[in-house]
Amino acid sequence: MIIQKLPVAAPKQTRAYLRELVGRHRWRFALIVALTIMAALAAMGAPYVVGIMTEGFASWAAGGPDPGSDLPWQLGLILASVLVQAGLAWAAHRQLAVLSEQVGADVREEFLERVLALPPGQIEAAGTGDLLGRTNLDVGQLQHSITSAAPKFFTGFVSVLVYVAGAFVVSPVLGLTILVAVPPMLLVLRWYFKRAFEAFHAVQAAGADLTATVAETIDGIKTVEAFGWQRRRVALTDQAIDRKYAARMRMMRLQRVLFPVLDFSAFLPCLTVLVVGGYLTATGRLSLAETTTVVLIMQLAVAPAVEMIISLQQVQIGGVSLARLVGVQAENAIEGGGLPDREAEEIIELKGVGFGYDPERPVLHGVDLVLRRGERLALVGPTGAGKSTLARLMAGIHRPDRGAVHLGGAEAGTIDEDTLRRFIILATQEYHLFNDTLASNLRLGAPDAEDGHLLEALEAVGAGDLPGRLEDGLETKVGGRDHALTPAEIQQVALARVILAKPEVIVLDEATSMLSPNAASGIEQGLSRILAGRTVVGIAHRLNTAHDADRVAVVERGRITELGSHDELLARGGSYAALWRRWHG
Ligand code: ATP
Repeated sequence: MIIQKLPVAAPKQTRAYLRELVGRHRWRFALIVALTIMAALAAMGAPYVVGIMTEGFASWAAGGPDPGSDLPWQLGLILASVLVQAGLAWAAHRQLAVLSEQVGADVREEFLERVLALPPGQIEAAGTGDLLGRTNLDVGQLQHSITSAAPKFFTGFVSVLVYVAGAFVVSPVLGLTILVAVPPMLLVLRWYFKRAFEAFHAVQAAGADLTATVAETIDGIKTVEAFGWQRRRVALTDQAIDRKYAARMRMMRLQRVLFPVLDFSAFLPCLTVLVVGGYLTATGRLSLAETTTVVLIMQLAVAPAVEMIISLQQVQIGGVSLARLVGVQAENAIEGGGLPDREAEEIIELKGVGFGYDPERPVLHGVDLVLRRGERLALVGPTGAGKSTLARLMAGIHRPDRGAVHLGGAEAGTIDEDTLRRFIILATQEYHLFNDTLASNLRLGAPDAEDGHLLEALEAVGAGDLPGRLEDGLETKVGGRDHALTPAEIQQVALARVILAKPEVIVLDEATSMLSPNAASGIEQGLSRILAGRTVVGIAHRLNTAHDADRVAVVERGRITELGSHDELLARGGSYAALWRRWHG
């Protein structure tokens, strides 16, 4: 199997997603912008009044009128400016907190929807580690960015813009001197961002890799212990840690350049305004009030500017995470609209189907097969011949590289996942019991099934007595440690789940492998009864299953070499006859 990591969205795609996301909440967004602008405007009231006061004191010192009578209303205005600014900033932050939670929830929900829509074949090809990394690390990073860093960055940015505009209004000359900080800041930012995007990606990817390595070791702990691979797994984990360490160090080297320069750039305007303003005031070209006001406005701008710069890093990490989350998309997105007809006579049709997990090494070659509705087909053949692969193509898990698979007359690739799973279910030996009640586990495919139906389905798979053996019957919690069922019981529950889901076609691939031969054949008979009229494809390792099927297809080296009823194939004296004699003899 070739590992094809899940893609990362291109910057254009990520930006489009972000635009759409913000667009959805545009009114709240507009309100926040308005509140932030008004808060910054209100904040500038204080420097403006202080400028006038300074001018008044200076002229008083030079023998002018006593400014004492103006003091009460001036102090009142300063207090009002501070209070109004605080109130507006509080309202803006409140709205921003609501918005960021909403956006965060949207992103998480949509990510989950896309993950659930991924075709199983694509997850298998990418390995679960990558997906796990994105689900754990990237969702967490993005959440932090959206709820904490992005709001700070955003309010900081809007406030700085308003303060600079305010300074321009008071004195265009001093406004221009503020801009001296812009070129060095832009140069450093350009240098940094050119390198940082890739560096952040490397950190996130190394983090996901580490998670995957650890998760794999835990998943396969028994195998690791059985083969004494502990050292090897520890060495692999160490290597993953080293890669993450190296990636983080590279990122920190970049930040060591960025932060001092940005800090300096934030203070540079205050410095230039003081020097140029002081000179222009001393030479009588600017009033003391104007210079004082601009100096104080610059003081107001320092805090949001520094906040903006500090949150920039987290915003960028969030951007990288967002690209990784948006990148999780179903490949060859389902065109949709394909509706399999449950009444179709030719319920499954394979035409010239070719497929390989690695396109260079095809597993199936030109397979043609038509299944009639209600038919029971057994697939037999040597190990590795391609039976399971064929079953997976029939169930729409993989798409053929060549040829086509039609289900109920519709091309499998055009049927969306929900419709597909209501039509055909592949039951394999890999089952999972969720940590929930037995009834909930059974109702996964049929949420409205009544208890009677659940018991009937359990009966059909030879587990009719299971609820009676559990302390709370169907309501007993299973799946956890308290009531761990045996592998055979889990398999029975899983089969009952398939029966309850009532798909038109059921494909069974080693679905009874955990059961004793006797129990398995009993279950197969029970299944035949309850599934009467449905189409069933079974991969038969025990040939009595093939004997009971309507037709048998022999798969050899990726081709169907014989097709017919048990009796016909026996009479032909080919591979099936040889297999049967060997099995029977
Ligand atoms: P068995 O009876 O042992 O299950 P099978 O007839 O079902 O065998 P498949 O499991 O379909 O055969 O395997 C056919 C070929 O495809 C084999 O060479 C196998 O190694 C390869 N193969 C099967 N699954 C994968 C996979 N997930 N990734 C890569 N190769 C695979």
